[in-house]
Amino acid sequence: KADFAMFLAKENGKNNYQFYNDELNKKMKRKMILETYLHKAIENNELTVHYQPQFDISTYRMVGAEALLRWKCELGHIPPDEFIPIAEETGLIMPIGEWVIRQACMDIKRFKNKNINLFPISVNISTRQLMAPTFIDRIRSILLEEEVDPNYLTLEITESSFLYYEDAKNNILELRNLGVRVSLDDFGIGYSSLSMIRNIKIDELKIDRSFLNDSLKNNRVKSLLEAIIQIGKRINTKVVVEGIETKEQIELLSSHGVYGQGYFYSKPIPINEFESWYIETIGKAKT
Ligand code: C2E
Ligand code: MG
Ligand code: MG
Ligand code: MG
Repeated sequence: KADFAMFLAKENGKNNYQFYNDELNKKMKRKMILETYLHKAIENNELTVHYQPQFDISTYRMVGAEALLRWKCELGHIPPDEFIPIAEETGLIMPIGEWVIRQACMDIKRFKNKNINLFPISVNISTRQLMAPTFIDRIRSILLEEEVDPNYLTLEITESSFLYYEDAKNNILELRNLGVRVSLDDFGIGYSSLSMIRNIKIDELKIDRSFLNDSLKNNRVKSLLEAIIQIGKRINTKVVVEGIETKEQIELLSSHGVYGQGYFYSKPIPINEFESWYIETIGKAKT
């Protein structure tokens, strides 16, 4: 990175070198500070989980929700795209990731206790978590301790997990044996999308939002999106399209029998808000 800064500096004259160097220092410093704060995030109760509902696009029925981690520390709200990589590098993703899974399970239990109709909750997990030798045992204990039926838990993994194919494969098989569902997040932009679904049965494909984003302006991407949806259907895998923001996008998808998630329906919201919205619109279980 320093070499690159030097290169840019040479290209742009001497003053810029100082500038890029300062920028790099600033970034590194922020990262170090965030890392220090992140160590205390759990014990300081700075983490929360927001939920974003998922819908069957053609029927408007709610079919699930994704749990998304939020962190507010002394520096303010830090987006996951900034702190998750730090958590992954430092290994803090292990306790933090487990905290999220437990929180999601506690929320499922809370709904169950209030006699609210249950739906599956999806939790993102990092490759490092999936690879941990103790991962399956931890999941099993959390489900037991929180008295949650594994069918209500979906774990979202990404394609980078498959760089460590053999270990990933075994743990995915074991998760599915437990009854936990496995979803492939950001499908289509990773390294080896097809080889993965060729070798392992996955329950759900989540098509990366860039496909939908470009579909309305680029016909080739639209065809690709439709083809990926067909792949999912042909192998009996649920298909979720991420990042739905507009009516036009809904129209494009509505005849394809897929699930969708995005700001068009709802942003990720705190559990309390989610609960009252859910009870008002969808209702309590019949007793
Ligand atoms: P992701 O798993 O692909 O999650 C979807 C992201 O898209 C979320 O960003 C969500 O808020 C955002 N999103 C939802 N609908 C729309 C939309 O219509 N338009 C646009 N532009 N964005 C939309 P968020 O919450 O900032 O999370 C970013 C990423 O951080 C997630 O991407 C996931 O990879 C990671 N992440 C979040 N929570 C966790 C966690 O608990 N554990 C791990 N390992 N990663 C997490
Ligand atoms: Mg996700
Ligand atoms: Mg993800
Ligand atoms: Mg995604």
